[in-house]
Amino acid sequence: MKYCSHCRALVSFIVPEGDNRQRYVCDECEFIFYENPRVIAGTIPVFEGQVLLCKRAIEPRLGYWTLPAGFMENGETTQQAALRAVSYTHLRAHET
Ligand SMILES: [Zn+2]
Repeated sequence: MKYCSHCRALVSFIVPEGDNRQRYVCDECEFIFYENPRVIAGTIPVFEGQVLLCKRAIEPRLGYWTLPAGFMENGETTQQAALRAVSYTHLRAHET
């Protein structure tokens, strides 16, 4: 990828602020081009017989209740992705 499909400026292959992987990022509009399989993995946390929900702290749908889940990254297994989603919460996960 060489140019931004939003504003046509050059893009750089860098680690965006707050991220830990290199992404193509527009030098002008700072749009981040995520390249991943677009597959979502998640968990259903159960505590004392009840399903726990998380309240979203980021957009989209800020403040909505949800299960811990997120887009998989390249090279991740579904289990790794699901555990990573849980790691963003205050929960601790184990396989059942
Ligand atoms: Zn751009």
